[in-house]
Amino acid sequence: MPRQRRLRKIVAPPKFQGYKPYGNNDYSTGSIDLLYEEYEAIKLADYDMMKHIDAAKLMGVSRATFARIYESARQKIAKAFVETKEIIAVYGNAEFDKNWYVCNNCNSRFTIPSTINEQKCPFVSCSSDNIELINK
Ligand SMILES: [Zn+2]
Repeated sequence: MPRQRRLRKIVAPPKFQGYKPYGNNDYSTGSIDLLYEEYEAIKLADYDMMKHIDAAKLMGVSRATFARIYESARQKIAKAFVETKEIIAVYGNAEFDKNWYVCNNCNSRFTIPSTINEQKCPFVSCSSDNIELINK
C-alpha cells in the first residue's frame, strides 16, 4: 500500500489550468503535470521572494520537504520550456484554508464566503451554476 502523503497547505490554487508553448508545430511533445504544491513553492520562493524556511512553515512542511517540492517544480518547468511541453496544473497533495471552486463555464477560480448560500460563479458576466469544488 502506498504511504499516506501529508497534505501541503496552499493559500490559493493557480489561476490557470495549464500553459501551452507556441511557435512550435511539433504537437507530439506531450505535457508535464505541475502539482498545486509545486506551483505554490515557486510562487512563494520566486514570486513572493520568501525565504525557504518561511515558505516551508506556511506550507506546513519541513525545510527539506519544501526544498524537494521546489526543486521538482523547477525541473518540471525547465523541462517544459526546453522540450516545448505543455504544463498542466494538477491537484497533487494540496490542502486549502478555504473551499475553492472552479467555474466550468468561464474557468475562473474562487471561494464562496460561508455567509453566502448561493452556489454560483461570482462573475456577473457569467453567473453559471455549473461550478465544482476543487478541494477533494
Ligand atoms: Zn463563471
